Amino acid sequence: MINLNEKELRDCFAAPIFGEISAAADEWGLECYVVGGYVRDLFLQRPSNDIDIVVVGSGIDMAHALKRRLGRQANVAVFKNFGTAQLKYKDFEIEFVGARKESYRLDSRKPIVEDGTLEDDQNRRDFTINTLAVCMNKARFGKLLDPFGGIEDLRRKTIRTPLDPDITFSDDPLRMMRCVRFATQLNFFIDDATFDSLCRQCERIKIISAERIIDELNKIILSPVPSKGFVDLERCGLLELIFPELTALEGVEMKNGVGHKDNFYHTLQVLDNISKHTDNLWLRWSALLHDVGKAPTKMWSPKSGWTFHNHNFMGEKMVPIIFDRLKLPKNEKMKYVKKLVGLHMRPIVIADEEVTDSAVRRLLFEAGDDIDDLMTLCEADITSKNNERRQRFLNNFQLVRQKLVDLEERDRVRNFQPPVSGEEIMKIFGLPPCREVGALKSSIKDAILDGIIPNEYEPARQYMLEKARKMGLKPVE
Ligand code: ATP
Ligand code: MG
Repeated sequence: MINLNEKELRDCFAAPIFGEISAAADEWGLECYVVGGYVRDLFLQRPSNDIDIVVVGSGIDMAHALKRRLGRQANVAVFKNFGTAQLKYKDFEIEFVGARKESYRLDSRKPIVEDGTLEDDQNRRDFTINTLAVCMNKARFGKLLDPFGGIEDLRRKTIRTPLDPDITFSDDPLRMMRCVRFATQLNFFIDDATFDSLCRQCERIKIISAERIIDELNKIILSPVPSKGFVDLERCGLLELIFPELTALEGVEMKNGVGHKDNFYHTLQVLDNISKHTDNLWLRWSALLHDVGKAPTKMWSPKSGWTFHNHNFMGEKMVPIIFDRLKLPKNEKMKYVKKLVGLHMRPIVIADEEVTDSAVRRLLFEAGDDIDDLMTLCEADITSKNNERRQRFLNNFQLVRQKLVDLEERDRVRNFQPPVSGEEIMKIFGLPPCREVGALKSSIKDAILDGIIPNEYEPARQYMLEKARKMGLKPVE
């Protein structure tokens, strides 16, 4: 957070676009303010081209007035139902809304809206740091209006609602997700009274659509240290409601003095680890879900202690169910997450034992183009506190990575195409599509992956003919 005195703040609005906004507002005699995120982010030095403008009067009229001044380079879209307009000009996206007063009913987050004053409009906003407004009219150009102590909260890194938090959150429960999201993105604290209200109001999240919730959750996942958001969501009770598969991983159970690690906190650590290496949302999702199958597969036996057998396969099965409920896209992104969750144990097994060519070749075959992401996930998965163990794993992964590079050059396994096709096998033996053809095809694949033959046509053909002979098949003339 930086301090800006009156002059410095005014200078932040020196760009010609603000001069045009100011002139348009005065020309129409409308009170007009830049409000919310744009002003907040000036103080946080997070540059942005999204400008929200609140007009005491019609936001739509104001957008048209500005458009007339800017000419053909500006485009206006009007959303009559919402009483808002959006103007695009060069890199700027400017939203215009008339100042409004909102009142809510219990069963909906859609308010009854009336025209209001600037104060009414600031009252309806979610957090003090989002209520900051800067006047655009010439007489008061650059003047800051901060009725709720938003600047002080920026200084103290605090998220706080401007009104009674129970009312703010109950009116529009999406604000609870936004609360945790802003705290995570900005690395802010949630004020105690605001947090207590999250705990009281969390059940209200049920009236919010999955699409809006996931929007906020994705922003949390894409934050620099996403675990902070998940811990806050867990502490206030929201996580249990929106993502029970994650809270099911919580806790350490003890039997006969033997415990297992807390898989919830382990998962969060893996998510934080991977976030240092990638901004790929779906790779971060793979980290979040990599151990999600551990809760339903957990078993105790006196001989083996705690086990989570096949939790990777269980997790792979859970991915589509979770994506469906959370309204995440059920497309190739989901397939990618499924694949990484399903394969996440493989490099560890290889690195734990002897790193053989054959095991690495098989891994490369199954992971295909996603092999590097899989390795990144596995490296993030090493959360052992034991330094020696950590180092051993990291070294072995380095070995796996080196072998992957070597093998790829030799074998082109990554996007494996069998050198002898099914059609050719059918033609040689005069067969229709049948089990034998499939068996011959996989025997070629296995022989290549196990390094018995090179990935080339003639050796593969010879190998296949030999196999076929053993199966009693004869080539037709
Ligand atoms: P970012 O764009 O980085 O997510 P922002 O603060 O600009 O942050 P927007 O969702 O773009 O957030 O909303 C713009 C402004 O509108 C906010 O600063 C806030 O004042 C207000 N606002 C948005 N959503 C809500 C809401 N659900 N309840 C109350 N006020 C809101
Ligand atoms: Mg915004």
